[in-house]
Amino acid sequence: MMEILSGVILGSFFSWLFTHIYYKKSSAKIPDWAKPIVEKLPQSEPTEQELLQLFQEALNSRSAIPDPVLGHVACPECFSPSPDFNQTLYGDDSHTVVIKTCPQCGWSEHAEV
Ligand SMILES: [Zn+2]
Repeated sequence: MMEILSGVILGSFFSWLFTHIYYKKSSAKIPDWAKPIVEKLPQSEPTEQELLQLFQEALNSRSAIPDPVLGHVACPECFSPSPDFNQTLYGDDSHTVVIKTCPQCGWSEHAEV
């Protein structure tokens, strides 16, 4: 009985520790518009509608700006804002390829425009 109880307590502790560390770590990287979502996570899981509402409000207030080529508002890997992306153009008279690169983590994606 004591082993089960201490296992439960230890499990809860590590679960809390992991959540606490993960939360602290991720809150440093997330964009400003997503902070209300992350700050709510330990208390309650936001509904899809709440997430969409926050996202739309961020778009309305221009605190989240979609990349004009890719449509991303932030890097999919590290969540750096899309206006920070580096852009490289390749092409000829009939084709133009845009390569967007994240200066923070090196993520990149290309699109033909
Ligand atoms: Zn990145």
